[in-house]
Order: sequence, then C-alpha cells, then structure tokens
Amino acid sequence: MADFKVSIILPAHNEADNIPIVSEELKKVLSAYHSYEIIFVDDGSKDTSREVLKNLAKNDSHIKFISFSRNFGHQNALRAGLDHATGDCVICMDADMQQPPTLLPEMISLWQQGYEIVYTLRDANEKVSFFKRFTSSFFYWLINTLSDIHLETGAADFRLMDKKVVAALRQYKEVAVFYRGIIATMGFKKIAVHYTAKPRLHGKTKYSLRKMLNLSISGITGFSTLPLHLSTMLGVVISGFAFLYAAYAVVVRLTGNSVEGWSSLLFGIFFLGGVQLLMIGILGEYIGKLFFEVKQRPNYIISEKNI
Ligand code: UDP
Ligand code: MG
Repeated sequence: MADFKVSIILPAHNEADNIPIVSEELKKVLSAYHSYEIIFVDDGSKDTSREVLKNLAKNDSHIKFISFSRNFGHQNALRAGLDHATGDCVICMDADMQQPPTLLPEMISLWQQGYEIVYTLRDANEKVSFFKRFTSSFFYWLINTLSDIHLETGAADFRLMDKKVVAALRQYKEVAVFYRGIIATMGFKKIAVHYTAKPRLHGKTKYSLRKMLNLSISGITGFSTLPLHLSTMLGVVISGFAFLYAAYAVVVRLTGNSVEGWSSLLFGIFFLGGVQLLMIGILGEYIGKLFFEVKQRPNYIISEKNI
C-alpha cells in the first residue's frame, strides 16, 4: 500500500449528535489507508460538541479537533482546518452525513491517478427542500452572470485537494473568503464526481438565511466589480432620459401647452432618489469589504485544540 496520509476536515457548528456517527463512518472507510487524520473544527458550538470531540480524541489518536472561541462561520472553519491539515491529500466535507463517506475511496483513487482537485457535484434531489434548491440555483446564476468565474450548480465545499493546492490556498488571506470561487480560479488538474445528497442526520441546517446571504455577497463582491459598472451604466442611461425629457419640456413650453407636471416631477424625484440610494449601497458594500480587509483581523480565534 502506498504510504500517503489523508486529512479530512469537517466544520461543525452544534453537531454533537452527528459527530460520533460521522467519525465512526469515516473510520470504517479510512481504515483501508496507511495513515489518516480526521479534523473537526468546532465553530463556536453552543451544544456539547466540544466535549464530544474531546472524548473521541482521547480514545483515538486519528481524531483531531480545533475549537473556536465563538462562531466564525463555515468558511473560516474550513480555513482553520486547511491551516492545520498535514495530509498528502485533504478532503473537506460537512459533519451532518449529507455527503456520503463511501464516496471517499473513489475521490482518493482519482487523486492517485493524478487529479489535483476532485470536486463534487450534488445532483438535483427531491429530498432537498424547494427553498434550498431555488436559492442555490439563483445564487449560482447570479454569480456566473456577474463575475468572471464559472461555478457549476451543485458545487459546494465537499472536495478533495492535493497538498499543493492546500499550500496555495493558505496564501489567500482575504477576510471575506469564498473558497468555491478561489478554487475555481486556481487552475490545477480537476475532475468532478457526482453524488446525491442525503437528508441531514440530526438537527437543523446551520446555514441561516443571513449566513447564506453573507456568503453570496462575499462570492459576488469578491470576484466581480460589475455591480460598480452597473451603477455607471445606469447613470448614463438615466441622464440620457433626463436630456430627452428636457427637450420634450422645451417643446411643450414653446408650443404653449405647458401643464403643471406635478406627478412627473414627483416620480422623477422618487425614482432618482431610489436609484441613487441603490448605487450608494453598492459602493458601500465594497467600501465595507475594504474596511474589513484593511484591518487584517484574524479570521478565527482558537480557544482549544489537540493539534
Ligand atoms: N457550519 C459551521 N459554521 C456555521 C454554519 C455551518 O461550521 O456557522 C457547518 C455545519 O456544522 C455543517 C456544515 O458547515 O457541518 C454545513 O452546514 P449545514 O449542513 O448546516 O448546511 P446545509 O447542508 O444546510 O447547506
Ligand atoms: Mg448540511
């Protein structure tokens, strides 16, 4: 057996019920390999996840954990895992058993054949809620339209990466990190594997609407300045209309048909006010991102770990 090491990274936020089962299932699959580590990143869980992890780690040296001081979000949990993983190949997956551990041997064997990134595509599945499917396909459409990167629908953060890719990823220091987008722009030899997502084992989704929205905004503002061009273009179009309207007003005045024009005036004020606020908002999104990037704050704070 070739002696390489496999690292698995699992961000976990309030997954105490799932952690023992996931780690058991992973061990079944991974025991076939020479060396492996299972890194759970406890992302500020408020349940007993940390105690569960400490207990597991006590009895099994393959289990590593990193516990954050508070919730820093899924992407930062991935980052902490990537910073600590020592494997020759690293696999990121969720801690809720939605992604089948039985897919790992196929992914690892593709890596052995020379693929540096083995990413997965979640097939359309009736079991996934309509809301999730709708928001997810809308998001992929939006980011593909607005930015230069192309993301395939159903490509999430369940993927295998060679250690070269992980080393390159560690150089991306941005605060608003969006791994899917970064990895799509990195190059490397890639291949996709399809899978069908299972229902979550225990508990509810930890991706609230707010977290999904934040992730989408990071994805879009992190990879595109098109929204900024949009405001310029809209400004040009609206000024064009304003000139046409001015010409029309002059004609009306000269032909002596001038009316009070109360409603068109009011409409103009509201419309322009609304457009200006929207565009200032878009500018604000980018300035806000700059504000946080400039601060260079740590992306996560560890309160306890066994690595
Ligand atoms: N997660 C996390 N921090 C968060 C939100 C989620 O570490 O702030 C983890 C969560 O525990 C899970 C993975 O990220 O292992 C994916 O989240 P979830 O399964 O809730 O999302 P969904 O599958 O519903 O998109
Ligand atoms: Mg899930």
